[in-house]
Amino acid sequence: MTKNRELRDTLCVVPPETPLEGFESLAVPVYRGSTIVFPDAATYRCRANRAPDGYTYGLSGTPTVRVLESQLARIHDAERAVVVPSGLAAISVAMLTVLKEGDHLLVADNVYPPVKSLTREFLGNLGIETEYFDPMQLTDLRGRLVEGRTKLVWVEAPGSTSMEVCDVPAISKICRSAGALVGCDNTWATGLLCKPLDLGVDMVAEALTKYVGGHSDLLLGAVVFRDIDLYARVRNTLSCLGVGVSPDECSLALRGLQTMALRLRHVGALSEEFAQRLSGSQKYAVLHPSLPKSPGHGFWRRDFKGSSGVFSLRVDDISAEAVDHALDQLKTFAIGASWGGTRSMIVPMVIAPDRHIVHSADSTTHFRVSIGLETEGHIWTDLQAILRSLDLQ
Ligand SMILES: *Cc1c(COP(=O)(O)O)cnc(C)c1O
Repeated sequence: MTKNRELRDTLCVVPPETPLEGFESLAVPVYRGSTIVFPDAATYRCRANRAPDGYTYGLSGTPTVRVLESQLARIHDAERAVVVPSGLAAISVAMLTVLKEGDHLLVADNVYPPVKSLTREFLGNLGIETEYFDPMQLTDLRGRLVEGRTKLVWVEAPGSTSMEVCDVPAISKICRSAGALVGCDNTWATGLLCKPLDLGVDMVAEALTKYVGGHSDLLLGAVVFRDIDLYARVRNTLSCLGVGVSPDECSLALRGLQTMALRLRHVGALSEEFAQRLSGSQKYAVLHPSLPKSPGHGFWRRDFKGSSGVFSLRVDDISAEAVDHALDQLKTFAIGASWGGTRSMIVPMVIAPDRHIVHSADSTTHFRVSIGLETEGHIWTDLQAILRSLDLQ
């Protein structure tokens, strides 16, 4: 092996320093990195001092991740945000951080359905006891709160699919006086339409997969905090579990954020208008918090700045075949899980039997509708086609 050859090998491995001066871009760079290098051995030895915010290893974040985290924190008027691989991961990490064996967890019964499997099965196996409560009945919450044992109360507003808006400030107040923390899933509203931290909540979880990403091409979640100690504990949980996110995904989320306000304003106005136009029928129910008869409409007016694009249609006494037939007529809506992208989405949702809500039988279908960015008339034509197909017009 010649000396020259060795020299070339090193040149392949160590890129030349290239000035950044004069390169002013509006885009947030994608910083990839597993290894973080340190200026000297002593700094490396003391790297733990950089926690919870600093860079120590790629798993705990690169500058691309930190930019997304601070942008989300600012949208919520929060101190910190932590970005995780999915919305469900945001919820699981928040719960795993504050709960341990023997603790009691109260979960609103209208939450995103996978949260029930997480709490009942996974947390149950760890010795954490979960009870579900009706978030629209504060007496139900008061009756189930066990002072000293209930460590966390989890809510979502509006509730997944059934769309009731609970009284988050009142729930937070009750929990605070019983010594329980409150977590809230704010995916529907995003920090632009609701800031649950202002309503007394301790941790906010969001699926960035939906409106932040905005284009159905990424999976990410976030937990947002005002309490730095709680934030540091969640970072520590992620570090123990070995959970981190890709800067490429964060870069896509940062791009999605650029247009989120505009997209939300558009789909929010349309969803309110369509819900209004569809309402008033005796043959089916429209579930949208902006409708005056919707449960918790007053709380929505008080605590939210508007609507996003997701609402539901509840139809009783129809067969699965009729539902499938109606959905198969649609030209503009796509059928599939998730929402918040540019395409209008629809799925038939089943409401779990452990719900307190009155209106749900085996023969009841909730169509969950997510309004997208297609031509308004095309979306409306599809909604009419469902009603026509089910003989509900
Ligand atoms: C989609 C969704 C989640 C989960 O997000 P993922 O990124 O798909 O894991 C959590 N909460 C709500 C309300 C959601 O709609």
